[in-house]
Amino acid sequence: MKCALVTGGSRGIGRAICEKMATMGYYVLINYKSNTDEAIRTLELVKQAGGDGELIKFDVADKEQINEVLGGWIKAKDDKLIEVLVNNAGVRDDNLMAWLKDEQWDNVINTSLNSFFYVTRLVLEGMVFNRYGRIVNVVSLSGLKGLPGQTNYSAAKAGVIGATKALAQEVGRSGITVNAVAPGFIRTDMTEGLDEKELKRNIPVNRFGTPDEVAAAVGFLASKAAGYITGEVLSINGGLYS
Ligand code: NAP
Repeated sequence: MKCALVTGGSRGIGRAICEKMATMGYYVLINYKSNTDEAIRTLELVKQAGGDGELIKFDVADKEQINEVLGGWIKAKDDKLIEVLVNNAGVRDDNLMAWLKDEQWDNVINTSLNSFFYVTRLVLEGMVFNRYGRIVNVVSLSGLKGLPGQTNYSAAKAGVIGATKALAQEVGRSGITVNAVAPGFIRTDMTEGLDEKELKRNIPVNRFGTPDEVAAAVGFLASKAAGYITGEVLSINGGLYS
C-alpha cells in the first residue's frame, strides 16, 4: 500500500494537503502534535474525499519520539511504503532578535529545521530501496526574504531550503525528487490575528491565500508528472515577493 506522510496534518495547510493526497489515491498518515480532535476531523475529510489513512502522533521537534513512533511504524508496517513525504509541521514564535529567548530559538529550529532531518532520514531508506519518492518541504516567504521579528523562523526555513537543494542532488538518481513550497500569507490559525485588510494592500492579488491553493501546488510536486522538477522552491504568495 502506498502512503503519504504529512507532518502537521491536523490543521491548516497540512489538513488541505492530506485531503489532496487522498484524492491522489494515497493512504494518508496524518501526523500531529497534540490536537487529536482536529486530527480526527482531518481523517474524516480524507475519508470523505474517497481515501483512507490513520493518525500518527509524534512531536516533530523531538528526535526520540520521531525514531520511536515513526521508526516503529516503518518497521512494523512493512507492507506499507511511504512514497510521499510532506514536511509541513511548523510553528512561529516571533520576537525581535535582542529579546528572543533561547527557548524561542530552539523551539522554532527544532520544529521546522531539525524535524526535516530526523523525519526525512527515516523515510528516505524505503524510497531509495523502492527507487521512487517525492519529498515536499513547506518553507516560507520568510526563509527566502527574511522578515524582521522572525530571525528564528527565517533561519529555520532558509535552512530547509538549503537542505532541499542539497538532498535533491543526492537522491535524483534514485528516482526521488525533493522540492519546497514557500507560502506567503495563508489563512490558517498561524495567521489568525493578522490584519488581512491592511496587509493585502502589498499583495498584488489583493488577498491572503487559502490552504487549498498551497495543497494544489504540493499535489503537483508530489505527482509522477513532476518527475523532472527537483531542488526547486515554488513561491505561493500572490506575487508578494519573487
Ligand atoms: P497551523 O494552522 O498553525 O497548523 C500547524 C500544524 O502543525 C498543526 O497540524 C500542528 O499540530 C502541527 N504541529 C505544530 N508543531 C508540531 C510538532 N512539534 N510536531 C508535530 N506537529 C506539529 O499552521 P499552518 O499555517 O497550516 O502552517 C503549516 C506550514 O506552513 C508551517 O510549516 C508554516 O511554517 C508554513 N507556512 C504557513 C504560512 C501561513 O501563512 N499560514 C506561511 C508560510 C509558511 P497540532 O494541531 O497537534 O498542534
